[in-house]
Amino acid sequence: MLGHSLMINPNRVLDALPALVWTAGPDGRVNFVNRWCSEFTGLSTESGSRRPWRVVIHPHDRRASFEQWRSVRASGQAGAIEARVRRQDGQYRMFLIQASPVRDDAGQIVQWCGLGQEIEDANHGDIDGRLMGPEFQSIVDNIAVPAAVIAPNGELEHLNQLSLEFFGRSLQELKGWRASDIVHPDDLAETVIYQANAHREGREYNIENRHRRADGVYRWHNVRGFPLRDSQGQILRWIHLRMDIDERKRAELELARSEQKLQSIVSTIPTLAWSTRLDGSADFINQHYLDYLGLSHEQARGWAWQTVVHPDDLEDLTMRWLTVLESGQPGEAEARLRRHDGTYRWFLCRAHPMRDETGRVVKWYGTNTDIDDLKRTERELRRQKALMGQAQRLSQTGSLWWKPSTGEVSLSDQGYRILEYPRTFEPSLAMFQERCHPDDIDIVWDVALRMVREGGNLELEFRLLMPSGVVKHIHVVAEKIEITAGEPKFIAALTDVSERKRSAQALERSEAFLAEGQHLARMGNFSWSPRTGDLAWSRPLYRIFEVSTDTVLTLDLIKSRLHPDDAPLHDEIVRRMRRGVAHLEYKHRILAPDESVKHVHMVAHRSRCESGDLRYIGAIRDVTQEHLAEEALSRARAQLTRVARVSSLGALTASIAHEVNQPLAGIVTNASACLRMLAIEPPDLEGARETARRTIRDGNRAAEVIVRLRALFSNRASTIELIDLSEVAREVIALLRGELSGARVILRVEFADNLPLVSGDRVQLQQVILNLLRNAAEAMNEVENRPRLLTIRTACGEDDHVCLLVRDTGIGLPAEESERIFDPFYTTKRDGMGMGLSVSRSIIESHNGRLWAERNDLGRGALVAFSVPASRQSPPADPNCTDSP
Ligand code: ADP
Repeated sequence: MLGHSLMINPNRVLDALPALVWTAGPDGRVNFVNRWCSEFTGLSTESGSRRPWRVVIHPHDRRASFEQWRSVRASGQAGAIEARVRRQDGQYRMFLIQASPVRDDAGQIVQWCGLGQEIEDANHGDIDGRLMGPEFQSIVDNIAVPAAVIAPNGELEHLNQLSLEFFGRSLQELKGWRASDIVHPDDLAETVIYQANAHREGREYNIENRHRRADGVYRWHNVRGFPLRDSQGQILRWIHLRMDIDERKRAELELARSEQKLQSIVSTIPTLAWSTRLDGSADFINQHYLDYLGLSHEQARGWAWQTVVHPDDLEDLTMRWLTVLESGQPGEAEARLRRHDGTYRWFLCRAHPMRDETGRVVKWYGTNTDIDDLKRTERELRRQKALMGQAQRLSQTGSLWWKPSTGEVSLSDQGYRILEYPRTFEPSLAMFQERCHPDDIDIVWDVALRMVREGGNLELEFRLLMPSGVVKHIHVVAEKIEITAGEPKFIAALTDVSERKRSAQALERSEAFLAEGQHLARMGNFSWSPRTGDLAWSRPLYRIFEVSTDTVLTLDLIKSRLHPDDAPLHDEIVRRMRRGVAHLEYKHRILAPDESVKHVHMVAHRSRCESGDLRYIGAIRDVTQEHLAEEALSRARAQLTRVARVSSLGALTASIAHEVNQPLAGIVTNASACLRMLAIEPPDLEGARETARRTIRDGNRAAEVIVRLRALFSNRASTIELIDLSEVAREVIALLRGELSGARVILRVEFADNLPLVSGDRVQLQQVILNLLRNAAEAMNEVENRPRLLTIRTACGEDDHVCLLVRDTGIGLPAEESERIFDPFYTTKRDGMGMGLSVSRSIIESHNGRLWAERNDLGRGALVAFSVPASRQSPPADPNCTDSP
C-alpha cells in the first residue's frame, strides 16, 4: 500500500516525514530519497538517487551495511540495517534503517521501501565516553538479538538481556567463563582461532558455531563481531551479535547427512544412479553404473556420460537434459547406453531435482533403468499387434472380448471397422444392438444368452444394418474362457462375409444361368482326366445323354449310349485323348432309350489343371435339329438341282430337236438313196453299201444325243469319278451347238492340253457348264452392234486347281451388286427362274471349289468362272499348262 502511494505522489507524503525515506529498485539501487534526507545529508534528491549517496555512510559501516542490505534483499523479507550517516555539518549519526519489499500481485518484488531513523548521537567527540557509559549499554540492551560488548583485550564487559537469558547466568558468573564453557567442543578450536585472528587484525568477523543454552542444549548461532573505533581508528570495544540459526543449520546438516547417506545407498542400489551439478555435469556415478560402463569414477565424471550414449540418441538426450535442467522439474528420456562390452542397451533415464529450503534447485539426482528387454518385448508386442491388426484387416475379421458378469467389452480395430464406429467410441454390446439387423436381433440375443447360460460355444451368421443402409453379413465364432472360476469371458471372432456371400450368390446365379444357357443351347460340358479317369459332366449333359444325374459316369456308360455304328468312333476318341491330342472335334450319334437317334457335336481341348495333370475340357451339343434341317436342305437342293436341269430341258428342246433331226434326216436321205441304188439294174451294190453305212452312222449319232440327254436329265444319285473338264465341256457344247448357232453366237473354244483331272460328279459339272454357257448366250441376245463372242476356256489355276472360264460380250453384270446374281431367285429374265447360278455355286462348293463372276476385262460383257481342286490321282500337270484365269 505504502509502495503504491509512494508511486502516486512520493514527495508530498514523504517529504513531511522527519525521517530518512528512500525507495530502491529490486536490484537494490536507490532511486528516491525524501526531502528530509536531502536536507539532513545535503544531497539533492537527484544525486541521492544516484550512486554517490552512499558516500554519506560512515566508511567503517559501509561494508557491513551493504552486506546487511544485500542479505535483506536476498531474503526477500523486511529487515534492518544499522549505519552511521553523515550529516551536512560532517557529523555522523547512527541510523536504524528498516527496509521492506513492495510486491506486485504475483508476489514479485517490484520495489524496496526504506525508513531510516536516528537511533543515537554518533558524535565522534564523545563516542568513547558514550561507549563506556550506560547510554551505550542501554543501546546494546535494546538490540533485538543476544549481544555482547567485549573489551579490546577480549574481556567480556557487558551482555544484553537476551544474552543473559540465553546463558541463564548473571554477567558476573559469565565473566569468569571461558570459551570452552559456552562453545560446543567441536566448534571450539575453530572459534577461538578465528576470533583471535579477527581481533588481532581488527576486522569484522562472521562465524557459525554452537553455544550452550541455559538448559545445556547447544544451539547454532551466527556470531558477528564488529570493532568499535575511536576517531583515530583505535578499537575501543567489540560488539558481538549472535543470531540463532539453529533450525537452518540443523536442516542444512541434516541435508548434508542425508545426502551422504543417499550417496552411500545409491552406490549400493542395483540400478544405475548418478547425480549432477546444476550445470548438468556428473559429480557422482554409482558403482553399478561404473561397472556397466566399464569406467572409473574419474573417467565417467563431468560430461563423459555423453561418450557412452548411442550416436543416434545423443542429440535428443542432450537437448532433453538441458530442457529438464532449465525447467527445474523432474524429467525422463530414453536412450541407448554403451556397455563395457560395446553393446548398446536401452535405458530410461530419470532426473529429479533436489532443492534447499528456499526451494532452489541445488543438485540433480537420477537413475538409468535398463529397459532393453522391456523395449524389445514392447517392440515385439507392437509388431505382433500390428501383424494381428493387419491379419484382421486382410481377413476382414475383428475380435471381441466380453465379460458378461461386468459387462466389460473390448473390441479390436477391425471390429470397429466392421461395425463402422470411430475408435474413440467406448466399446459395449450396445454397439452390436445398434447395428444388428432388426430381423436378426432376436435370434442373435437368444443364441448369445444361451451361450452365457449354458457356457457353450457359439457359431452364428447374421446381418448388420449400417447407417448408410448397407447390409453386412457377419459370421461369428465365440468361445468361452474361464481363467477365474465363476467369471467366464467370451472371446469372439467376427468375420465380414458379405463379399463371400455376395460372390457365392453370384456364383449360384451364374451357375443357374450357365445351366439354363446350356439347356437352351442343348449343350453340356464335360471334363475328363485320362490319368485318373476322373469324369465330370454339367447337368445339361445328363439330359442330352438321357441319364439321371445320380448315375455314376464311366466311359462304358457313355459307349453304351452311343449309336452302335459310332462305337468304334468312341474308342478312337478315347485313344486319341489318352495319346494327348490337343484338339478333338467329332460328330456322332446317341441312341436314346426310346430308340430315337440324336446327333451330337463334340469339341474337346487339352488343358492342364493346377496339379499339372492333363485334363480334357469339352462341350457336347445336341445338333439333331440342325442335322435334320441340313438333311432336309440337301434333299431340297437335290430336287432343286433336278428342277433346274429339267427347266433347262425345255429351253434345250429346239437345240435337241435340231441335233436329233439332222441325223434322222440323214438316215432318211441315205435310206432312200440306198433303195434307189438297189433298184437300178444292175444294182449299185457298192453305193448301197456306202449309204447303208452312212445310215448306221447317223443312227448312232442320234442315239448318242439321246444317251447324253438321258444322262443329263435322269434322276440319279451323284457319283464321283475322275473327270477331264475339257471333255465334259465338249459334251455340253455338243448339246448346245444348235442353240448357239441359232442365236448367232460365235463360240471360241480354248482348252488347255494335259489338263489335270478333277474328281467330281460329271453330270453336275455338266449342268454348271451348261448353265454358264446358256447365261452367256442369253446375255448377248440383244447385242447387235458387235460380235456375239462366247469364249470357253479351261486352264490350270493356282494351288493345284483347274479352272473353267466362260466369257461373253453381252450386257454385263448388274453394276454394283455382281454378287447378287448368285442369290436364289435373282433373275433379270422375263421367263427366268433365278436358280441356275445359285444351284451351280452349291454344286461347285460341294466340289470344294469356287464359282465367281467379274466384269469382262476385254470390254463389254461378263466373265463367269469356276475352279475346282485337281485330283491327286491326275497325271502330272503339263509344265506349259500354267496360265491362270
Ligand atoms: P436365270 O438364268 O434363270 O435368270 P441364273 O441364276 O442363271 O438364272 O441367272 C441369274 C441372273 O444373273 C440372270 O437373270 C442375269 O441377270 C444374270 N446373269 C447371269 N449370267 C450373266 C452373264 N453372263 N452376263 C450378264 N448377266 C448374267
